[in-house]
Amino acid sequence: MKIAVFSSKAYDKSFLTEANKKYKHELVFFEPHLNALTAKLAAEFPGVCVFVNDLLNREVVSNLSRQGAKLIALRCAGYNNVDLPAAKELGLTVVRVPAYSPYGVAEHAVTLILALNRKICRAYNRIRDSNFSIEGLLGFEIHGKTFGVMGTGKIGTILSRIMQGFGCKVLAYDAQVNTECVAMGVEYVSKERLYAQSDIISLHLPLMKETHHIINLEALAQMKNGVMLINTSRGGLIDSLCLVDGLKSGKIGYLGLDVYEEEESLFFEDLSGQVIQDDILARLLSFPNVIITSHQAFFTKTALENIADTTLSNITDFEKDSLKPENVVK
Ligand code: NAD
Repeated sequence: MKIAVFSSKAYDKSFLTEANKKYKHELVFFEPHLNALTAKLAAEFPGVCVFVNDLLNREVVSNLSRQGAKLIALRCAGYNNVDLPAAKELGLTVVRVPAYSPYGVAEHAVTLILALNRKICRAYNRIRDSNFSIEGLLGFEIHGKTFGVMGTGKIGTILSRIMQGFGCKVLAYDAQVNTECVAMGVEYVSKERLYAQSDIISLHLPLMKETHHIINLEALAQMKNGVMLINTSRGGLIDSLCLVDGLKSGKIGYLGLDVYEEEESLFFEDLSGQVIQDDILARLLSFPNVIITSHQAFFTKTALENIADTTLSNITDFEKDSLKPENVVK
């Protein structure tokens, strides 16, 4: 099938091209994000392949449909960037890669937790400047602390197990109780209790209407002073406006973000020669107790191999009318 691959970076080309030796689709790579301006690049392509920051609102989906597209193949798990009712109305099938690196994302969350706690970025910079002082690098022991996980799906479950390995008590909030977590000894509690009792809170909920800005001023007010907040899920789960105040007041003691509400025009790009126009992000970057990574939690060799293979097999399955139900977004 002829597929327009948007937001393609060198690593996308390399992993998709390698996996495509087996599937033999016709892949045409485009560097820009898919949006209303670039949708015309996909004219007469029966399918598009997109990533987290491509914008598939009603206008874009309608344009794609008018141009003859039948398939939207997401090479990610989240689908908050797609207007699903519009796609359904216009008869476009949306497929995704439901799990490609749950271990990678959970491990990245742990990386942020450890680096924030032991101030690894500050230590690294100091030592490179021959400053061997350890003043200001005081950490805490994770053993014995309470870890709050919001979302106990694939990633949250793996992370809960890792944090139990550190000797944490794990509290969870999720709309559904996961029996695997219960068997591990994870305790399901209300959001309010999780906020009030957790020393570290990590977000693993999908972004949807119900979870948008789930972390806001009101939620922060219920958390412990000096809480560590980690988000490797989607930026829109947190109202970024309250982060600066939360950090200034000391309510948030540590902040680790792999995702940011307004990341679309920033993340994955080299903007080192430009002035960042996003004042909240610029302010967040100025705090010593904040680590921000550029949506790289998924970025492991295993994940890229899995993403490429599942994306291309989804396209083949679509052609054969034999899609795996769990890979179809409805
Ligand atoms: P999952 O679908 O396995 O788990 C999501 C959990 O959220 C489920 O247990 C579900 O019951 C719960 N949930 C859904 N809606 C809810 C609601 N309204 N209230 C309470 N709980 C609710 O997802 P996953 O594979 O663990 O991934 C979680 C998120 O991580 C994804 O949605 C995606 O946005 C993000 N992600 C980020 C990266 C990255 O590189 N940073 C990579 C992969 C996934």
